[in-house]
Amino acid sequence: ATAGAGSDARFAVARRPLAAVTGAEIQAPLIQGGNVRYANLDYGASAPALSVVSAYLNEILPYYASVHRGAGYASQISTSVYENARTIVRDFVGGRPDDAVIFTRNTTDSLNLLAGCLPKADGVHTGEVLYLDIEHHANLLPWQQVPHRSVIAAATLAGTLELLRKELAYGGVSLLAVTGASNVTGEILPIRALAALAHEYGARIVVDAAQLAPHRRIDIAADDVDYLAFSGHKLYAPFGAGVLIGRPDWLDAGTPHLAGGGAVQDARVDAVSWTTGPARHEGGSPNVLGAATLARATQVIADLDVEQWHAHENAIRSFLVEGLSRLDGVRVHQIFSDSASFDAPAGTGTIGVVNFSLEGYDAGLVAAYLSAEHGIGLRDGRFCAHPLLRRLGLPAGSLRASFGLGSRLEDAERLLAGIRELRQTGL
Ligand code: PLP
Repeated sequence: ATAGAGSDARFAVARRPLAAVTGAEIQAPLIQGGNVRYANLDYGASAPALSVVSAYLNEILPYYASVHRGAGYASQISTSVYENARTIVRDFVGGRPDDAVIFTRNTTDSLNLLAGCLPKADGVHTGEVLYLDIEHHANLLPWQQVPHRSVIAAATLAGTLELLRKELAYGGVSLLAVTGASNVTGEILPIRALAALAHEYGARIVVDAAQLAPHRRIDIAADDVDYLAFSGHKLYAPFGAGVLIGRPDWLDAGTPHLAGGGAVQDARVDAVSWTTGPARHEGGSPNVLGAATLARATQVIADLDVEQWHAHENAIRSFLVEGLSRLDGVRVHQIFSDSASFDAPAGTGTIGVVNFSLEGYDAGLVAAYLSAEHGIGLRDGRFCAHPLLRRLGLPAGSLRASFGLGSRLEDAERLLAGIRELRQTGL
């Protein structure tokens, strides 16, 4: 049932969760009477928190007090934990010293915040946002609310870059919004080349790194990326915090994202002067624990051995793709015919996401069967990327298996065995 993986050295690395190898364990829950390990193949939605991150949460809980407002000892500790988190997260993505680090609820929140900070003259937007049709709704719908233009991606990455060049050359684009990696297929976009392209035509770039950050090193200064957004809950931290990092000028002039306490220099009963810096957008009491645990998780990721990390995820992905490709009636989906699959140099390749469908089977029913009969958790549907699913010819949705540090080859083996059994029983 293992499709020959046992004898292949490529797969040996993926027999144990990488989290255990690095000492940053993930507790995988047991199900079905307490003797079957839950096979979580849905890391792309939310990755389970690392135990070192939960331990850190417990460490800082006793110091839980108001941030920026209290003079007491606990308040000072909370404030320094919160403000330190900005530096840790900035370092994690190779930010420039003057980049603003604004804590938000999640990637969606971060991108909506940026949409409120696009440059204006006399209250009117001075440019448009350009985006592709392959985006998650979080990196698509906020731009629909402001002047925008969209491009239907070509069948190749190279062709897509040319289409974007044409659109940028036409003029009037202030911001290019792209994903770092597709949440649907896992394909990585060449963000350094895209940043260079945007800048050539006087536009800036924002990278939606919700999927990229948990799987690849990011260096926004080296890649010349202007803005970057990601979420803690996909990066082995608990739910509740996300971040927007980037050039401060637009952010300091933009519409305050959350009008309220802390966001002002001075307020009168019918007038206000807003402050600058992250506080402008973080009105109200901030999510200290969310920001602190997000930062702690980035430290664990930053400490990973890159080769080991990528080898682990690539081994599971290649095993799964090869296994699925051998099954009749199973199709693995990708957007670009020229996106490299494995062992690709930085800036290309595919993260730990595999998208597929079974001919003649409803994706939702397959997912329900795999959960009930095999203890496998994967995602079905349209992955908050309806335009992309339509263009892939999957208007009713497909299946997505996604994995990370706590995953094992056994999870992929179990998925393949489950699909074979489903087809044999002829359900
Ligand atoms: N962008 C991408 C590529 C995603 O995969 C997701 C979540 O699935 C998001 C944005 C939105 O993230 P969040 O729900 O944390 O705001």
